[in-house]
This record gives sequence, C-alpha cells and structure tokens, in this order.
Amino acid sequence: MAKDWLKGIKSAYDTIVIGSGLAGLTAANKLAKLGYKVLILEHHYNLGGLATWFKRKGGHILDISLHGFPTGMIKTCRKYWTQEIADSIVRLKNIRFDNPQFSFWTNFDKNDFTRLMKDRFGIVKETIDDFFQTVRAMNFYDDLSMTTRELFEKFFPGRTDVHRLLMEPITYANGSTLDDPAITYGIVFANFMDKGVYTFKGGTNELIKKMKKELLKNGVDIRTHCMVERVVVNDKTVQGVEVQGRMIPAKTVLSNSNILSTIHKLTGDEHFTPEFLDEVKKVRLNDSSCQVYMGLKRGEKIDNVGDLLFTSQEKEFSSASLLEPETTSRTFSFYYPETRPGLNMYSIVASTNARFKDWAHLTRQEYEKKKKLLIDRTLDALEKYVPDVRKKIDHLEASTPVTFKRYTAHPNGVSFGTKFEGLSISKDLPKQIAGLFHAGSVGIIMSGWLGAANYGVIVSNEVDKFLHAVSQPQPELETVSV
Ligand SMILES: Cc1cc2nc3c(=O)[nH]c(=O)nc-3n(C[C@H](O)[C@H](O)[C@H](O)COP(=O)(O)OP(=O)(O)OC[C@H]3O[C@@H](n4cnc5c(N)ncnc54)[C@H](O)[C@@H]3O)c2cc1C
Repeated sequence: MAKDWLKGIKSAYDTIVIGSGLAGLTAANKLAKLGYKVLILEHHYNLGGLATWFKRKGGHILDISLHGFPTGMIKTCRKYWTQEIADSIVRLKNIRFDNPQFSFWTNFDKNDFTRLMKDRFGIVKETIDDFFQTVRAMNFYDDLSMTTRELFEKFFPGRTDVHRLLMEPITYANGSTLDDPAITYGIVFANFMDKGVYTFKGGTNELIKKMKKELLKNGVDIRTHCMVERVVVNDKTVQGVEVQGRMIPAKTVLSNSNILSTIHKLTGDEHFTPEFLDEVKKVRLNDSSCQVYMGLKRGEKIDNVGDLLFTSQEKEFSSASLLEPETTSRTFSFYYPETRPGLNMYSIVASTNARFKDWAHLTRQEYEKKKKLLIDRTLDALEKYVPDVRKKIDHLEASTPVTFKRYTAHPNGVSFGTKFEGLSISKDLPKQIAGLFHAGSVGIIMSGWLGAANYGVIVSNEVDKFLHAVSQPQPELETVSV
C-alpha cells in the first residue's frame, strides 16, 4: 500500500504553508515561534525548494543555488533562525571576471569596485561615489520609471565595459535586465556591495538540515511528498487546502508556490475580482537556468582558480545573449574541500540563464543531444581555467528549465519568480481573499536566498496580524427590537 504522508496530522491548523522554499520555511519558523500551529506541505522529498542539493555515486554532493548571497543573510539567520546557522555563513573573497572587455579578480565590495572603476576603467572618484550613493539610497517606494539602462547611461554614458561589470553578476543573480526598473538592480547590487559575497559552510544540505531541526523544535508539522491540489475558499475567505484527496482546515494559507500558480491553479480565477485579474495578466514570469554539475574524482585536486568566475566570450554585455542556448556567458562556482569540511572533495557548477521554450518542446532524443552539447561546451570553456579538467571529473550531468519545473512546480521552471509587477499582486492577495497570503520569489527584489527569506518574514508578520485579529473575541451585536 502507498505510504500515507499525512498520517497523524492535526484536525486543523492556524497556518498551512504550501512549499518549503526559503520564504516558506522562514515564515513557518517565525509563526511557530509565535505559538501558532503550522503545517508545511512540500511536494518534493526534500525541503528547501531551489535551495537544494543532490548526492551522486562516488561521494559527490552538488549544490544548485549556493553560489553566493549578500551579508544580510547573516542577520536574517541570526534573528529568524539560529546563531549556529548564522555562524556558518562565511565570505567568498575570490570573485573573478574574464571577458573580452576585462579580466581581473575582486573581492566584490564597494571599496574594491571603487578601486577598479577608478584605476582600471578611469572613472573619476566623484562619479563613482555619486553612483554608489544613488543605488544605496534606492528603495521600494522610489520612482519606477527609470530603467537600469538609463541609470547606467546617466552615470557612465557609453561605457559598455562599466555597464557589464555592474550588470552581468546581477543578471546571473536575479535574472534582471537593463530594461527592468533601476530599483530591481540597485537594491540587490547595493546589498552585495555592502560587504561582498557570502556562502554557507557545510553546503546547502547542512543548512536545510539545521533549519529542519529548528522547525521541528518549534513544533512545525512538516510533510514532504505532498503536492497541494487546491486552496479551499468559501465566501472570499480561506478554509484550508486539499491535498491527496483530503481537506485540511486552516485559518490562513501561505503559498510559497509561484504567484501565478497560486492564483490560477491552486485558488481559481472565480474567487478574484475582474480588476485584480486584469492586473495579474500583466505579470511576466522571469527566466530560468541551465546548469552543468561536475564532480571531481576522490583524491583529485585543482588549484584555486577563484570561488565564482564570471566568464564570457561575448564582445559586450547583452541580457538577451545571456539567454541563448549557445551563450558563452556563464558563471562557474568552484567548491573546494573547505566548503564541506571532512568530505575532502571538489565540485564545480556552471550556470547560465535560459528560456523554458528553448528546451520544453524537444523530443527526448533532441533534448538529450542538446544537454550533451551544453556539457561539452561548458567543459571546453572550463579547460581554459582548469587544464585537463575532463580527466579529473568522474561525475557529469546537466539540468535545464524543464528540470527546474519538474522539481519546483514553477511554471516555465522560473528561477527568480516574476518581474517587478508580480510583487504588488503578491502583496494584494489577502485583500482579495481573507487569510490567503503569498511569500516567495517575486518582483525580482524578493528573490534570491536573502530576498526570499526576508519576504517570508514580512509576510509572516501579516499572517500574525490577521490571526491575532480573528482570534479576538468579536463584540456581541446588540439585538434591536423592531
Ligand atoms: C540555478 C539557480 C541558481 C541560483 N543561485 C542563487 C545564488 O547563488 N544566490 C541566491 O541568493 N539565490 C540563488 N538562486 C535563487 C534562489 O535559490 C531562489 O530565489 C530562492 O531559493 C527561492 O526561494 P522561494 O522561497 O521563492 O521558493 P522556491 O525555492 O521556489 O520553493 C518553492 C517550493 O514550493 C514547492 N511547491 C510549489 N507548489 C507546490 C504545491 N502545489 N504543493 C506543495 N509544494 C509546492 C516547491 O516544490 C518548492 O519546494 C538561484 C536559483 C537557481 C535556479
């Protein structure tokens, strides 16, 4: 008989969290610490969503989205998780660029970028300071009409080399382009420039293990292998969810599933106003990714060639060319034995931005052939930095937007939620249906490890306010005789 993944669940919950990405997990933990009864339902067998890893024969552990995040993650983990988790976050100092316009190493913070822009690119100090002050001061309530392209042209007109230095890593980090609102660039870039790029010592598996331990300690009920089929709504108010043929009642539902799936698939258009649905139609999904995972044979070594390497053979930066299946623009993440102390192994992950449509409609044969080509091109590019790398590798595989869709249920396998307009839709969800909330990669700025975790905190505060209000005794209505 099939295993009952829901065995022993409670008869009702204060909050059901659909999905266990970093936003869902962080929100669940915060609500549980406030004393609410919380259930997480995750369709995958692991927690973490895109913050995940996999193991392969030969002792390999390969990370999917652990390339780097800003220092803010330390504070978020300390405040909303544990000191132990925060203490495992360490800085990556060797960030490297190599493309036809420039080639150097940097520790990726404001001081070093100021030095590079002055000495290598010949930009005057006042302009650099002015640029940093402008991006640092950007916030959510700013004027949205300025695009990143316009921002760059204002400070560094015609300097495609400077535009590339400033934009290429951020496009890899959140899928934003020169034509997105400048704040989607400014907020994320300023976060990185604060103190550089950080990683989690021990790898993603250790982080999620520690998070799971904390969730269980705080009383969160966690169920994997549970694909939620429907959010049950009655009279514009959430009633619970349907999963594996069962209805589980809850006062609130917090969906960590993609915002468009939450609306159209899980809830149903019939529950929303036509005006709201008109706005939803304008929401554009972000792009997806391809990755090549390379595990080095036990005992093999490579020199330190950088932690993160942004490499490209394109003459100039272009957001569109980054998405082409034949792109030469990719990030290599090198995981040295220090990443997972004790394991004493090396792995390398190459990432490119990608479009779902370039991979979704191929025959099995075409798909496999294209994946093989992706792997071969990646190895060719890597040979420049790690000669004879092919001989050192004993595990090789690739993922595509189709893979990301399968494991996360995100439409088009999106890596970074939606473009900016998705954020207001996500925030307005509870105005449409009482008790229904969304937290997860959306609007570009709420994506990435830090953005998603922080958005989980913001939305859990809203859930708390709602639960607090509905648990207050309702004033008795006076009976008026007529
Ligand atoms: C290739 C790649 C590289 C990246 N690199 C970085 C990086 O270096 N640094 C960084 O900060 N960020 C990176 N990111 C982005 C980062 O990983 C994500 O933005 C973040 O982890 C997303 O968290 P989330 O809370 O939005 O949820 P997600 O991780 O998207 O998780 C959503 C969860 O919901 C579950 N779910 C969906 N629907 C249902 C349903 N109906 N029922 C049950 N469960 C459901 C899914 O299975 C999934 O577990 C990368 C992403 C990709 C794809």
